[in-house]
Amino acid sequence: MSSAISTDVLIVGAGVAGLWLNARLRRLGYSTVLVENASLGGGQSLKSQGIIHGGAKYALHGALTGASEAIADMPRRWREALAGSGELDLSGVQVLSQAHYLWSPGTLAGNLTSFFASKAVRGRVDQVKGSDLPPALQDKAFKGKVYRLAELVVDTPSVIQCLAQLGGDGLLAGESVEPLRENGELAGLRVDGREIRARRVVLSAGAGTAALLQQLRVDQPAMQRRPLHMVIAKGATLKPLYAHCLGGGTKPRITVTTHPARDGQWVWYLGGDIAEADGVARTPEQQIATARNELGQLLPWVDLSQVRWATLRVDRAEPAQSGLVRPDNAFLAEQGALLVGWPTKLALAPDFSDRVIASLDRDGIKPGQHPSLPPLPRPPLGQAPWEQLLP
Ligand SMILES: Cc1cc2nc3c(=O)[nH]c(=O)nc-3n(C[C@H](O)[C@H](O)[C@H](O)COP(=O)(O)OP(=O)(O)OC[C@H]3O[C@@H](n4cnc5c(N)ncnc54)[C@H](O)[C@@H]3O)c2cc1C
Repeated sequence: MSSAISTDVLIVGAGVAGLWLNARLRRLGYSTVLVENASLGGGQSLKSQGIIHGGAKYALHGALTGASEAIADMPRRWREALAGSGELDLSGVQVLSQAHYLWSPGTLAGNLTSFFASKAVRGRVDQVKGSDLPPALQDKAFKGKVYRLAELVVDTPSVIQCLAQLGGDGLLAGESVEPLRENGELAGLRVDGREIRARRVVLSAGAGTAALLQQLRVDQPAMQRRPLHMVIAKGATLKPLYAHCLGGGTKPRITVTTHPARDGQWVWYLGGDIAEADGVARTPEQQIATARNELGQLLPWVDLSQVRWATLRVDRAEPAQSGLVRPDNAFLAEQGALLVGWPTKLALAPDFSDRVIASLDRDGIKPGQHPSLPPLPRPPLGQAPWEQLLP
C-alpha cells in the first residue's frame, strides 16, 4: 500500500484548468497534488483551437452581457504570462498567431454593423489589406474584408508542456478515485487506494466530472456536453490562416486555425458552425465532403488535391445551461471542501484559478506545512489530435 499524503489542495483532472490552477497555487506557496487518469491535456484542451478569445466573437450575437467582462481581460492575462511577467511564467509557450482575424467573404454589412457597434470590439478591430492579410488569403482572386482582432492563438501542446513543468513533483497518474470522509465531511480522496488528505478538493475533470460527482455521491452541479465534429486537413499547400469566416448568421460559418504538425507540415483545424449540429449529424465522409466544398468556395485558389483529411468527434463539457446562452466566464460551484467547475474555454483558465483562489482566501485557507511528497507516478503528456489521426 502506498504511503498516505497530505496536501493543501487536491485537484482532479489535468487539462488546462487543473494544470493552470495547480501551477498558480504552487507559485502562491500552496502544497498541491494533481491527479490525472489519462494524459495531460488529452481531454478537450489539446483538441481546442487555441484561440485566446477576448469576447469579440460573442459580439456577433448582439449585446455582450456583464459576465463577459472576465473574458475581455483574458488576452492580457495570457500575454503577460507568455511574456514571463504575469501570474505564471509561460515564456516557453509557442504563440501561433498574434491575432485572430474576422473574415467576411461577401456583403454582410448588416451583421458587421452591429458587430462594430458593440462595446467589446470598439477600438480593438482594424481592417487589414494586401500584404497584411493572413498568408492563405494573399491571392489576386481574394475578395472580401478582413479585420484583425486582438486575440492571440497559442500552440496548445506547448501550453500543456509548460504548465506540466510548472506542476513540479505534484502530478499523479491515478485511475480510481474514492471519497475520504471524516465525520461526514470530505477530508480528501483515496486515489488507487492511496489516502490523500487535503483541505480542499477541486474537480476540474472536464467531461469526466459528471462521473466523478456520481462516485462522490454528489448531484450538483449538473453538466452538459456539447458535441462537435471537427475537421482536420493536412498538406503542403496549406498556409497559415487564423480566422472566423462569417456566414449570414450569428456564428462563424467556419473557424480556421493552423497548427504545425511534427513533420513540419501545416494542419488546418476547422470548427465553427460547420462542426456544430448539422456537422455532428454527418458521417465523417459527409463532413469531409462538406468541408472540402466550403473551402473550395471560400478559397478557390488553394490546391486541395493532395490534402489529407480526418474528422474528430469531441464534446465540450460545460455547466448545464438553460436556453441557448453560451457560458462566457469560468464556472465554479462550492460545497464545503469540494469545489467543482469548468473553465468553459481554454482562454478562461486564469479566471477559473481566480475563482478557486478567491474561495480559499474567503475561507482563510493559507499555505500549510506538509511533509515533502514521495516520488509519484507521472501521467504522460497528451498529443495534438492530428498526430494520431494524420501522422
Ligand atoms: C473542438 C474544440 C475547440 C475548442 N476551441 C477553443 C478555443 O479555440 N479557445 C478556447 O478558449 N476554448 C476552446 N475550447 C474549449 C476548451 O478546450 C475547454 O474549455 C478547455 O480545454 C477545458 O479544459 P479542462 O481542463 O476543464 O478540461 P479537459 O482539457 O477536458 O481536461 C480534463 C482532464 O480531466 C481528466 N479526467 C477526466 N476524468 C478523470 C478522472 N476520473 N480522474 C482523473 N482525471 C480525469 C481528463 O483525462 C482530462 O485530462 C474548445 C473545445 C473543443 C472541444
